[in-house]
Amino acid sequence: MVSRSEWNELHPGMRVRLGGLCQRSGLLRLLHRTRGWVRRDLRVLAYHRVLSVADPDRFDFDLDLVSTSVDGFRRQMQLLGRRFHPMSLGQVVAALEAGQQLPAQAVVVTFDDGYDDNHRFAFPILRELGIPATFFVSTGHIDSGLPYAYDWLVHMILCTQARELAIPALGLAEPLPIERRARRLLAQRVLDRLKALDVAAQEACIARLEAAWGMPRVAGHPDCRPMGWAQLREMHAAGFEIGSHGVHHRMLAKLPREELEAELRESRTALERELGTPATTISYPVGGVGAFDDEVVRATRDAGYQAACSYICGTNPLRAINRYALYRLPVERHMDANWFTAMLTLPELVGYPSSNREG
Ligand SMILES: [Zn+2]
Repeated sequence: MVSRSEWNELHPGMRVRLGGLCQRSGLLRLLHRTRGWVRRDLRVLAYHRVLSVADPDRFDFDLDLVSTSVDGFRRQMQLLGRRFHPMSLGQVVAALEAGQQLPAQAVVVTFDDGYDDNHRFAFPILRELGIPATFFVSTGHIDSGLPYAYDWLVHMILCTQARELAIPALGLAEPLPIERRARRLLAQRVLDRLKALDVAAQEACIARLEAAWGMPRVAGHPDCRPMGWAQLREMHAAGFEIGSHGVHHRMLAKLPREELEAELRESRTALERELGTPATTISYPVGGVGAFDDEVVRATRDAGYQAACSYICGTNPLRAINRYALYRLPVERHMDANWFTAMLTLPELVGYPSSNREG
C-alpha cells in the first residue's frame, strides 16, 4: 500500500487537471444543481490544521496534517457559504432526531485534534463568514503545550542527528536519509506501520526513540501546539461545537476495554466541566478501518455520544446513514480551488481513497 505522502506526490496532478476541466466546462455547476435530485447524502469535510507554511523544507512537523493555507481556507469557506448549506454535526443530529429532512446541500465542517491554528486562523474566518463548524479535540492535550505524539515522531525523524532509525517492534533498522523529502516519506511509512500496533506498543516505540535520540517531547514549539481551554471557551461561546477526540489521541480499537471506556468517558467529562455543555459528538482518533470496530461503536453509544465521525473517505446517504461511523471528505494541502469544488460535487470521483487518509 502506498503511503499518504507517496500518494500525494504521485497523484495530485491528475485530480487538479480533472477539477480544472470540470470547472471550465461548466459541468460542476450543472452537477451541483442536479446531484441532489438523484443522490441525497451528507458531506462532512475533515480538516486538521489551517496554516500557511512559507517553506515546506523548513517545516519540522507533519506536513500531511496541514489541510490548507489560511487564504485557501477562506476561499473554501466562501464557496461553502455561496453554494452549500453548512451545519454543525450537532445540528445534523438534532434534525435527524426530530425526523426532519436535511437540506439538499448540507455540509459539515469538522476539525480533528485541536491544533491552536484552528483558533488563530480558522475560527476568525468561520465567524466572519457565519459558517458553523465542529472541532474535535483530544482533551488531555489541551493546555499542555505539548506536540501530539505522532507529530513528534515525524519531528524526531526529520530533525535527529542520528544516522540510523531502529524500531525493533516494527522490524525496522535502516540508515536515515539525508534529504528531507526522503525523511518525510520514511516518517510516513513508519507512522503507517506503527498504527497497526496496539496503543501500548505504539507509545513504547515513540518513547524509545525519544530516549535513544535524546529528544523528549517538550512544550514550546510554535509550529505545533494544541489549543488551550480559554481558546475553546471563546469558540464555544461564539456558537461553535466542540466534540471529543478522546483524551490522549489513542486508537480506541487498540485499547483494552477499560481504557477504551475511560477515553470516551473522561474526554466527555472534561469537555462538560470546562465548557458547561456535554459533548454529544466524537471523531475516532486516527479514524481509519483499524481505529474503531463494533465494540468501539457500542461503547461510544453507551457513553452518551449521539454521533461519531470516522476518517474513512466518502459521503453519507441519508436513507441509510450510519451515525456512529460517519464518512468524511479529507481536505488536503495539495487541493486547489477546482479540486476542492470537484470533490464536494463529485466526491465519488475526486475524493481520496480512504486507506491513505487517517487523522
Ligand atoms: Zn486525530
